[in-house]
Parts: sequence; structure tokens; C-alpha cells
Amino acid sequence: MFELPEFITLARQINETVAGKTIRGGVLGNSPHKFVWYNRTHEEFARLTAGKTVGDARAQGKWLFIPLDPGYLLLFGECGGRLLYHAPGVKLPAKYHLWLTFTDGSALTALTQMWGAMELYQAGQERERQYVKGMRPTPVEPAFTCDYFAALIADLQTGEKRSVKGLLTQDQLIPGLGNAIAQDIMFRAGLHPRHPIGDLSTAQQRALYDAILATVAAAIAGGGRHDEFDLYNRPGGYARLMDNRAVGKPCPICGGAIEKIQYLGGACYFCPRCQV
Ligand SMILES: [Zn+2]
Repeated sequence: MFELPEFITLARQINETVAGKTIRGGVLGNSPHKFVWYNRTHEEFARLTAGKTVGDARAQGKWLFIPLDPGYLLLFGECGGRLLYHAPGVKLPAKYHLWLTFTDGSALTALTQMWGAMELYQAGQERERQYVKGMRPTPVEPAFTCDYFAALIADLQTGEKRSVKGLLTQDQLIPGLGNAIAQDIMFRAGLHPRHPIGDLSTAQQRALYDAILATVAAAIAGGGRHDEFDLYNRPGGYARLMDNRAVGKPCPICGGAIEKIQYLGGACYFCPRCQV
């Protein structure tokens, strides 16, 4: 699934390659998939996208906002799979969940893997969508300061028991993070996925904050994770430290074997010596 660095990469590439193009036709999927969330009928989508011009895309959390001017906005969210640009004359994928063709003969297709939103809004209405409305600061925003992060943890401690992995991946507490990037964040911070946030020392909170910023920055600089694909169907340049390839291999810090557990709806990869 795409996480914040992948959505930021896709937004940048759309702005390099697709922004300014005019839509000749828009089609919702030819491959039925009950976990793709549409908010338009096929007919509406075709009628409302034709003749629109792609504006400057931006990412926020796990959401990608693409203006279709005048007056509309295409929203991708919580999805993975492929969002691809196709130069004029290039053969399109056989299956897609959304397809835009442009007047110059190029195209954009989207095919999600597990689930995902592909919704068309009147510009501004997307701000009212569940999960977009009221989104907390993401790690690339100025509001995501160390003080903000400490206050977020302090707020959570009063009401509930939550682990470090839960803080990083549940309830959009830190929008844009997901299970993949969380593994490297926890490794860099030296924290076990099950470590209760109520027990974090000030130094551990700081280490976690620094690890979030460092990991997100590294993944953005690399153009997304190596296990996802960019707009040009190229794998990202950020190689994960902690993933299924690391299991049983020596920890880069202490040399001990990396372990895998299932926890909170996904696999965790960690060093039992370095992550406490
Ligand atoms: Zn280690």
C-alpha cells in the first residue's frame, strides 16, 4: 500500500508529467472490485471529467489530491497497486479501476491492490470527506513539531493503552504512516512494536520523533519504497531496513537475528536486542 512518501512521489511526478493536460475521456474501472470506493456512476464520471485540465497535485497523509479544472478534484486515498502514466501510443494495462485519456494521446491509469478510494468531488467538497476532514498534522508539515508529538502522546496516555506500533499505524494518529514505514521507524528509534507508549521516556519519545522524520525524509528522497511503483512503473529507491528479506539476517547494528511477529494486523520485523 502507498504511504506518505509514495503519495508525495506520485504527486511530484504528476506535476512533472501530467499537470496541464486536458482530459479527452474518463472511465471508471473495467475490472470490478468491491473494495474500490467510487462516489460517481460511470456516466457521471465520464461526463464530469471530459474537457477538464489537470492541475497541480498534492499529497496529504495517505491521500492524493488532483485538481481537474475548472471546478473538480480527483481524490485517491488509502490505496496501493499502480498509478501509472502512459505516453502516447504505449499499450495500456488490460485491467484498471480508473482511466483518464488526454487530448495528446497520453493516459493515466489506476489499479489498486487491496482497496482504495477513487472519488471525484466538486472542488472543496473533498475537504468534508471522512478521514480527510480534521486530519491531524502529517510528518512533513510544519505543525508536526516535537512539542506537538509529545502532546499527542500525552493525550493518548490519559485515555488508553496503546503501543508504539499502534501510535504509528492506527486511527490516522500520524497520517501517512503505515505498517511498512513503521518497521524502519521503530528500528531507527530502538523501540519494540509492543512497547507501551505510556512507558516511553522523554529520550525515547525524542528518538521516536527523530526516527519518524528521518525515515519519512529518506523514503521521500528515494522516491518511495522499493516494494511500490512510481508513476512511471519504476520501483522506488528506498530499500526498507526491516522487511521480510531481513528475517533471520544479522541486525545491521548488533549482528543478532532479525525476527518476525504478527501484531496489530500486519507483520512486524525487528531486532529483539536493539528494540526494547
Ligand atoms: Zn540489533
